[in-house]
Amino acid sequence: MTDASNVRTGGCLCGRIRYECAGEPVFSLLCHCRDCQRQSGSGYIAAARMPASGFRIAQGEPKRYVGRSDSGNEITRVFCGECSSPLYVQVSTRPDLIGLRVTSLDDPSWFRPDANIFTKSAQPWDRLDPAVPAYPTYPEGQAYPGPKA
Ligand SMILES: [Zn+2]
Ligand SMILES: [Zn+2]
Repeated sequence: MTDASNVRTGGCLCGRIRYECAGEPVFSLLCHCRDCQRQSGSGYIAAARMPASGFRIAQGEPKRYVGRSDSGNEITRVFCGECSSPLYVQVSTRPDLIGLRVTSLDDPSWFRPDANIFTKSAQPWDRLDPAVPAYPTYPEGQAYPGPKA
């Protein structure tokens, strides 16, 4: 089923975790939320929402940190326990998607962001590309559904 040409490979800094990711992004974003800033140690992160069905860990056993978003969803952040490189996130209400950290790919150069999101917490020293639409939180239709009451 999987066409080798659309399988992208990636992994963590120390090389213990390797993955394969098939399929195309459904939403490509630069996230400026405080959680992403804290976790990355940077002003924002580049992520692509990819079909979870096309993703598999090819080597190693990543660690998981389960946190909660403002909307109350559980967010599982998956990373290497040895070198701490972030790999992807998964939101409890959309198990069909993963938010891949594109800079963990062996070749992240193809990535084209659709949007800057959570610019309400973008840092004043950061320079956003004016050609990429900016949203205080999510653009219409891209927020994750909240947890069922
Ligand atoms: Zn590692
Ligand atoms: Zn974020």
